[in-house]
Amino acid sequence: MAILGNPQETIEVLQRHDFHFQKKFGQNFLIDTHVLDKIVAAAGVGKEDFVLEIGPGIGTMTQYLCERAGKVLAVEIDHNLIPILKETLSAYDNVEVLQGDILKLDIQAVADRYNDGNPIKVVANLPYYITTPIIMGLFESHVPLANVTVMVQKEVADRMKAQPGTKEYGALSLAVQYYARPYLAANVPPNCFMPRPNVGSAVIRLDCLSRTPVEVKDEKLMFRLIRASFNQRRKTLQNGLTNSSELDFSKEEIRQAIEKAELPPAIRGEKLGLKEFARLADVLGELRR
Ligand code: SAM
Repeated sequence: MAILGNPQETIEVLQRHDFHFQKKFGQNFLIDTHVLDKIVAAAGVGKEDFVLEIGPGIGTMTQYLCERAGKVLAVEIDHNLIPILKETLSAYDNVEVLQGDILKLDIQAVADRYNDGNPIKVVANLPYYITTPIIMGLFESHVPLANVTVMVQKEVADRMKAQPGTKEYGALSLAVQYYARPYLAANVPPNCFMPRPNVGSAVIRLDCLSRTPVEVKDEKLMFRLIRASFNQRRKTLQNGLTNSSELDFSKEEIRQAIEKAELPPAIRGEKLGLKEFARLADVLGELRR
């Protein structure tokens, strides 16, 4: 069994199996042992942990995870990688490979079956074309999660941890920070991957919160307000919410709500934090009751 993690070994495995990269699956395999060490260390994986790995590729990071975790489940969409994974992971008896689409997997059932419903850890070098649906899918499914440690585009990592008033701040920052505390573990340049992506990457760990940082009566309404505010981020909050196709409040209702939530009339959405959006959602919800 090849111990993976550097370019020569990766090329050898790929050639032996006549594997061709598929762009549509966001395949950029890690070929840097330092980065692999950093991801696994950032995730804080130990023998007591069950780890879900999304997109194992040829199994490079999976080998690192198998060395440290109690049990690993690796979910890979590309059929052509399954025989390769069988070979590269043959020395480990604490791993299972599942062929399938992570967006269609019942992760709650996975946590129940493999970890008795206890919090699981998710570790992944994510396919960048579906970073946001994967992360939001994990959070919104309310699956018990300890942490989610992922390689994402640098720009996405910056947006996840951004604070109000910065240019990176937006709906993704608020959504992530409603469920987790983000921690940037490493910046990773394109030459650590094969093939090289044309963007910089970063490893971010999301420590999942046991309680959301704000209480809001209607979570869905709060997120509709957030999306509406940032869809038109150059506009005032008042205009952004009035013009949004996602909302059906009148101009007067929105004006009243902004006043009742004790926000300045000309404020922009990009200045508001979770607390203010929660207050606004509660006031608007109340107006309709
Ligand atoms: N973990 C490997 C590594 O670090 O070298 C590969 C990472 S590569 C960026 C992303 C992997 O996710 C690829 O193996 C790709 O085939 C897989 N993938 C893409 N879409 C997926 C999906 N919807 N469900 C599961 N795996 C997916």
